[in-house]
Amino acid sequence: MSLSAWYRCIRGCEGRYSVFDVIYRCPTCGGLLEVAHDTAALKERSGAEWRALFDQGSRGRGQESGVRGQGSGVWDKVEWVLPQIRAENRVTLGEGYTPLIHSPRLGRELGAKDLWVKQCGVSHTGSFKDLGMTVLVSAVAQMMADGGSPVRAVACASTGDTSAALAAYAAAAGIPAIVFLPRGKISTAQLIQPIANGAHVLALDTDFDGCMRIVKEVTRDNSIYLANSMNSLRVEGQKTVGIEIVQQLGWQVPDWIVLPSGNLGNISALAKGLALAHKLGVIDRLPRLAAAQAELANPLYRAYQTGFQRFEPMTAGATAASAIRIGDPVSYEKAVAALRQFDGVVEQANEDELADAAALADRAGLYACPHTGVALAVTAKLARRGVIQPGQRVVVISTAHGLKFSEFKIGYHEGALADVVTRHRNPPVELPADAGAVKAEIVRWLQGQ
Ligand SMILES: *Cc1c(COP(=O)(O)O)cnc(C)c1O
Ligand SMILES: [Zn+2]
Repeated sequence: MSLSAWYRCIRGCEGRYSVFDVIYRCPTCGGLLEVAHDTAALKERSGAEWRALFDQGSRGRGQESGVRGQGSGVWDKVEWVLPQIRAENRVTLGEGYTPLIHSPRLGRELGAKDLWVKQCGVSHTGSFKDLGMTVLVSAVAQMMADGGSPVRAVACASTGDTSAALAAYAAAAGIPAIVFLPRGKISTAQLIQPIANGAHVLALDTDFDGCMRIVKEVTRDNSIYLANSMNSLRVEGQKTVGIEIVQQLGWQVPDWIVLPSGNLGNISALAKGLALAHKLGVIDRLPRLAAAQAELANPLYRAYQTGFQRFEPMTAGATAASAIRIGDPVSYEKAVAALRQFDGVVEQANEDELADAAALADRAGLYACPHTGVALAVTAKLARRGVIQPGQRVVVISTAHGLKFSEFKIGYHEGALADVVTRHRNPPVELPADAGAVKAEIVRWLQGQ
């Protein structure tokens, strides 16, 4: 089977471009590009054969060739991702194969009993961004290995997680990385990650959208390669998340997938992977999608209210869900197409709702980041309204690890978050080192259990 993938315009303009060229937009219309695959060639395997191949997993396939997949959930699906990458150029840190956790206790609280949480934060740099970055950085490694490429460094604007992932993968490959961060608007953990990995960290006095404008300007020069999700190579890696979800459910398709959405690359990616699985007969239907936005950063939600007739960029407010604090999402057009194809909905959550949902999730044994809180709050709202029906199977994509957002968790339990009623506050009880006082406190506490 000889497979290939190439860039084409999402708006249908003529033209094919190499995935190893430095190109991000259609030269004809300026629209985004997407990676196209030779579906006729992919159809030489039946749906059942693809399922069997993917089910062999990294272990089975890796052992055969010594390097194939290398334990990566992304590269185990190389034929659907980027078949032209040579094994020696793959830059992997063991991304993918994140846990899918059945969470019936939390589900009952939210009104969606058959709830599953896809723990994308249980990954090398603590967010789903690893899935896309392994592909992008591998492609750059191959461009550099093949010679003749103008690329000298990689760069991105970030709300924190993209820069953490880019810095780690670039460091693993020995490629210089530059990251543009909005000063004072990301968590301490997210800031220290690219610093520790040796990236050139530029903290700018602006928001994410401002950083995005600067990085676009800087990467006009082809020596610096743009690593934001406007770059469709990222989407190819991220699209494996949906395929992995159905695989973990024994190739059963859930009724809903709910995910926090900011720049809208991830929802586009999720839809692209599932659409390909459907086209190749790997799954027999599509789930519905729910894009979850923070009320303070809700341009997609507002557009949805107009039936996507009108889209207006906004200045995003200071939401605790800082990774989706985006007012002018790059992948808006792709996301609208995805929502239409998947009978999708858009819902929002305010600061109180997202913090409450994250705390509820923690009480059920998870450790939810604020973005996951947005998705969980939206799940509860949709269930209350009957959009998500009782008994339907819901997968919530948890996009980052809660440990990256200690400030948010501390703020919650100290009762210090603005606009948040802390219903599940659990501050430590300070006592003298006295057994009597301790016993009295435990008796008091047990009465409330
Ligand atoms: C990037 C990110 C998102 C949003 O993904 P988009 O592709 O920008 O919509 C959500 N949550 C976390 C934790 C992220 O890092
Ligand atoms: Zn075009």
